Amino acid sequence: MPLGVRAALYVALRVLAAAAVGVLLGLVFGRVWIGVAAALAAYLAWQLWLLVRLDAWLRNRRTADPPDVASGLWGDVITQVVRLHRRKRFHKDRVMRVLRELRRSTAAMPDGVVILNGENEIVWFNEKASEYLDLTRKVDYGLRIDNLVRMPEFTRYLQSGQYTLPAIIRVDPGDDRYLAFQLVSYGEGQRLLMVRDVSRRVSLEIMRKDFIANASHELRSPLTVISGYLETLASESGLPPDLAEPLAEMRRQSARMTGIIEDLLVLSRLESADGQVEGEPVDVGAMLATLRKDILARPLHPAKVELRVDSQAQLLGNETMLHSAFMNLVENAAKYTPASGSIGLRWWTDARGGHFAVSDTGPGIAAEHIPRLTERFYRVDIGRSRATGGSGLGLAIVKHALQRHGAELEIRSEEGRGSTFTCHFPATRVAQPVTRAASG
Ligand code: ADP
Repeated sequence: MPLGVRAALYVALRVLAAAAVGVLLGLVFGRVWIGVAAALAAYLAWQLWLLVRLDAWLRNRRTADPPDVASGLWGDVITQVVRLHRRKRFHKDRVMRVLRELRRSTAAMPDGVVILNGENEIVWFNEKASEYLDLTRKVDYGLRIDNLVRMPEFTRYLQSGQYTLPAIIRVDPGDDRYLAFQLVSYGEGQRLLMVRDVSRRVSLEIMRKDFIANASHELRSPLTVISGYLETLASESGLPPDLAEPLAEMRRQSARMTGIIEDLLVLSRLESADGQVEGEPVDVGAMLATLRKDILARPLHPAKVELRVDSQAQLLGNETMLHSAFMNLVENAAKYTPASGSIGLRWWTDARGGHFAVSDTGPGIAAEHIPRLTERFYRVDIGRSRATGGSGLGLAIVKHALQRHGAELEIRSEEGRGSTFTCHFPATRVAQPVTRAASG
């Protein structure tokens, strides 16, 4: 029998028993209905009394013991309530334990952690975050983080919506403390802001960049002198014939060294600043036409060098950097493509932005090398790169120059068929030409 039906039957039996006692009392005193009414009223009063005791216990159930009603409907109700209460306390204790553990582990974390809601208001932060960002417990809860962390670069990062890479920000122009901020979205509008002190890493990086820039500068002058003397020697008429070949090799090697040093200096200049460059309008079509002419003027070049300028839109950026990037790509295509092959240059724009592609019918590149091509000094075939006078820095220069323009390099290649290197610039870097109607 279901529990509910049993309880209902039980209650009905009790009411009937009370009524029966009332009938008996009524018969004794000669008034049956009064006897029944009195018995039922007593039964009701007893039930209400139990209800009042249950209510009093529920109000103080933390300290008081449950009413001592072991049997009947009220006994069942109290047992159920006690069970629910115990289960709730068990779960609550467990959640509290987990929460305490979580709080202890985040407090011990070497990184700062701040939980933000959709309005960038602080929900919670750990001790490291309060140390790094000078936040005060409880006082700063509920306040907007950009009102408390007053660094313009941080506000820009917060509003950018681009959180795949961390933002490394100098805390104060006067000191060398750098913090890396990384936002991670989770849940509904909740965000986790992680803060890490990267001062040591940044200062090592600065030292490395300075060292390369200084070493390249220092090497440039003696090399210029050596190259000058080699040129003079080579043009001497009375030189013994067996010196001609070693001299030619020395000139080739000094030209290679000069190339490496020039590329290192270009890279250092590109790395000397992190942010994006300002936008000056650059006529891509004209730049590519000059690059094409330069390639065709060389004694050795691919038979066909095609240029397709599908857009008159200008590119907003730094002309020297863009020239350096495009020249490296075009030179690579020309260098690695045999004289019988062809290369194609194309500039076009669409809703996503501006695109410059260099395709060639050269040897192509195996898929496993492609992700590493933009690393410094990475070459697929060292022998071939050296033979063609490559420094191994060209694509690193391209990557850096594009990064400073918010652009990306896409490399597609198939061994034996050729390669296509495409630079994708965001729409904000494209300046549409002023039409005749608009200008007139
Ligand atoms: P390098 O000065 O050696 O050309 P880069 O950084 O410009 O250095 O290029 C890195 C490597 O990528 C090159 O050594 C070469 O192996 C490969 N590479 C670059 N462009 C091409 C291309 N168009 N076709 C085939 N291989 C290429």
